Amino acid sequence: MINSYSTDYWKALSTGDHRFTMKEAMEMLDTFDVHEIMALADSLTDYEIGNRVTFAVSYNINYSNYCAASCPICAFYVPAKIRGKTDRGYELSVDDIKKELQKARMYNPTEIHIVGGFNPYLPIEYYETLFSTVRKYMPESTLKALTIPEIDFIARTTGNSLRETVERFHRAGMEAHTGGGAEIFDAEVRKIITTPEKISGEKWLEDARIIHSMGIKGNSTMTYGHVEKWNHIIDHMLRLRDLESEVPGFLSFIPLKYSPENTPLMKMGKVSGPCSGEKDLKVIALARILMGHQIKNISVYWVAIGKGVAQMALTGGGNDLVGTAASEKIFGATNRKEQTSVEELSAMINEIGKVPAKRDTFYNIRGYF
Ligand code: SF4
Repeated sequence: MINSYSTDYWKALSTGDHRFTMKEAMEMLDTFDVHEIMALADSLTDYEIGNRVTFAVSYNINYSNYCAASCPICAFYVPAKIRGKTDRGYELSVDDIKKELQKARMYNPTEIHIVGGFNPYLPIEYYETLFSTVRKYMPESTLKALTIPEIDFIARTTGNSLRETVERFHRAGMEAHTGGGAEIFDAEVRKIITTPEKISGEKWLEDARIIHSMGIKGNSTMTYGHVEKWNHIIDHMLRLRDLESEVPGFLSFIPLKYSPENTPLMKMGKVSGPCSGEKDLKVIALARILMGHQIKNISVYWVAIGKGVAQMALTGGGNDLVGTAASEKIFGATNRKEQTSVEELSAMINEIGKVPAKRDTFYNIRGYF
């Protein structure tokens, strides 16, 4: 029974093999304020990682915005069923991809990040061509592609098993998955923020287990700040932690703050605006405390929470800024048209007394800025 009100006591637990329960995590949130939780998380970051903050030089390609899922939390998609009747939707051709890669080259990216909507009109060969084109024109960049629900959707709609689909994509050049689409695993919350075309939380975890068992790694994510409560956030983190202990394969955990502007959930009146910066900071700190012993990289997505809060989160559990995310369109669809540069992210890290480091997709250090 946890009955201590000292953060030292929690630190001792966190750095050992203790696996926090839901009850303990809720008790911690009730006991400590945001500053205390962040201080505890920062000391754990020092213990697990040291004083370094990493990021990748990343270029994003969103190959299509047609989507069969129509999730209420998304402002990016155009319903797949109106393809041909609207000029808002797009699918990138091989020539378009080559043009994107020419632009990407200017950034000298360590990784190309590719995601899109659930487009039922694209054959599996489309993705193979997309990946082999990236491999051919950008051999020096790692290709990280597709969310787990996207891979599942492509497998289902093209009549391939998940394994066959991943094998084909890997042969074509996909080296890691993006970890997106996890949203919140809780079924009741998931029903409100997604639609049945997006797989359940259980299926997401099962698919991740299969993909990782094949030796393909990727990130893990969570979308928060909509209708969820703290118990749903904690449940999500504990399930990811437990899967990582069973079948390792998560490179990082990236909490994604829900950006409500232009989304159906906001238009339906189910949310009134973005969650507080205090919640952003607590989510990062909690992730470090509950999961950081298993998934050591806790990433702070500056595009979603803004650069100022991101800087604070790096002093309270975060050790990574994800990437430069050039050409990002998904958060851009919610009017978060954030831009940055290697120099700006490095300066943000230096300002808080930490050391900026360039990493690859697999979190290997590739030099210092
Ligand atoms: S979140 Fe993904 S799956 Fe859902 S509507 Fe948007 S693009 Fe489609």
